[in-house]
Amino acid sequence: MALPGKYCLGSVSYSILVNGFPTKPIPAKKGLRQGDPMSPYLFAIDDLLMFARAYIPSVSAIFQAFTKFSKASGLEANLHKSDVCVAGVSDTAASQIVDALGIAKGSFPFKYLGVPLTTRKLSYTDCKPLIEKTVARIKSWATKFLPYAGRLQLVRSVLFGIQLYWCQIFVMPKKNKAAVLKHYWALSMKQDRLWIKWMHTYYVKHHNFWTMQVPNGLTWSMRKFWANREVFVDFGDIDQFITHGKYSIQKMYLHLRQNATTVSWKRIICNSKASPKATFIVWLALQNRLATKERLLKWNMQIDGGCVSCQTQVETLEHLFYECIFSKRVWSSVLSKIGVDITIQTWQGEIDWEAKKSRGTKPRDKICNMAFVETIYNIWLQRNSKVFKSSIDYVDVISSRIVFLIACRCDDQMRKCLV
Ligand SMILES: [Zn+2]
Repeated sequence: MALPGKYCLGSVSYSILVNGFPTKPIPAKKGLRQGDPMSPYLFAIDDLLMFARAYIPSVSAIFQAFTKFSKASGLEANLHKSDVCVAGVSDTAASQIVDALGIAKGSFPFKYLGVPLTTRKLSYTDCKPLIEKTVARIKSWATKFLPYAGRLQLVRSVLFGIQLYWCQIFVMPKKNKAAVLKHYWALSMKQDRLWIKWMHTYYVKHHNFWTMQVPNGLTWSMRKFWANREVFVDFGDIDQFITHGKYSIQKMYLHLRQNATTVSWKRIICNSKASPKATFIVWLALQNRLATKERLLKWNMQIDGGCVSCQTQVETLEHLFYECIFSKRVWSSVLSKIGVDITIQTWQGEIDWEAKKSRGTKPRDKICNMAFVETIYNIWLQRNSKVFKSSIDYVDVISSRIVFLIACRCDDQMRKCLV
C-alpha cells in the first residue's frame, strides 16, 4: 500500500463473537478492508442461498438442519437480514411457508453476487443495473481525465469484463453467443461443477446431450439454452475453440464474426510495437476520425480551415500527414535517420506501403512500422501545439525525438538495425 502505514486504516476495528457475545473492539493497525481485491481470499463469503421445494415439511427440514449446523459451528445467520423467496405456488401456500419460518418475505428479482436472480425471462428493467454500471464507469470523474490509451484499456478490461460476467450467467436479450456457447462445452465435457452434475443427473441422464430431445419441465432460459445446440453442432470440430484444455470465448467470437470485412491496414495497428497512445491516434487517422479542420468545417464550425504549418491548403488528412511541406520534411528526416530509402507519391500509397511492411517479421519491418506510427503521432502533436500554443519544433528536433522513441521500444536485434 502506498500510504504511510501508521495512520491509514486507523478507523477500522473488529469485534469477535465469543459464545454469542461480542468482545471488546480490536482496533486494526494495518490490513485489508472490505472491497479490497485481496479480501475474498481472506474472508468467508457471507451470502448463502438455500433451495428447497415449496412445501412446508421440506422447508422446515432444511431450516432445522441449518439451525443444528449453527449451534454446532457457531455460524449463525442474521434472520433480520434474511429473506424467503417463493415461486411456482399459490399466494396462500407461499404465505403459509413464510409464516412457518418467521422470516421476512422477499421478492424476485433479488441480487446475488451482483446479478439479478429471477424466475422468468430477464426484462429490460432487470438488465438496467448492467447498463447503469457500465455508464457509471464511463461517466465517472476519473474516466474524464484518462488519455485515449487509458480509455481503451478501461473498455477492454473493466467494461468488457462486466459484460462478459453477465453473458456467462444469462442468455442476454441481445445475446452474446460466444459466451453462452461456453456452457455447451462445459456440459458436454461433464466438467466437475455442481450445476453440470445436476443437469446430468436430472435431465441428460444416460442420453447423449447433443442428440437427445429437449427435456420437459425446464425453465425458459434452460429451454432456450437446449434449443440452440445446433449452433455448436454446425461448427464440426469443437477442438478448434479449445486452448490448453479450456474453451476460448475469444476464439469462438472470432469464428462467429468471420464475415466482417477486414481492412488492408489492420496489421499496422495489430502488429504495432509503437506506444499505445501513438497507435491509437493512427487508428483514428486511418479511419478518418481525427478532428482535422476539414472535418470541423463539415460540422459547421466557424474556423479558419487552413493548414497551420504552410497556410496554403485546407487541412485535410492527406495534406496534414503527407502533402504538407512540413510533414514531407519530417518524413524524409525520419526515414534518412533510420536508413530507409523510398519515394512515395500519395498518402494512400504511404499507407499501402506501410500495410505491406507491417506483415513482415524482420526487425527492419518492425522499425518501419514504429516509424510510421510515431511520425504520424508526432505530426499530430505538432499540429496541436501550433493550434493551441502557437509553437512548433524544428524538423530535426522532431525526427530525433521520433528515432529516440523508436529506440526505446526496440529489442537488441532491432536496435542493431538502427545504429
Ligand atoms: Zn500544410
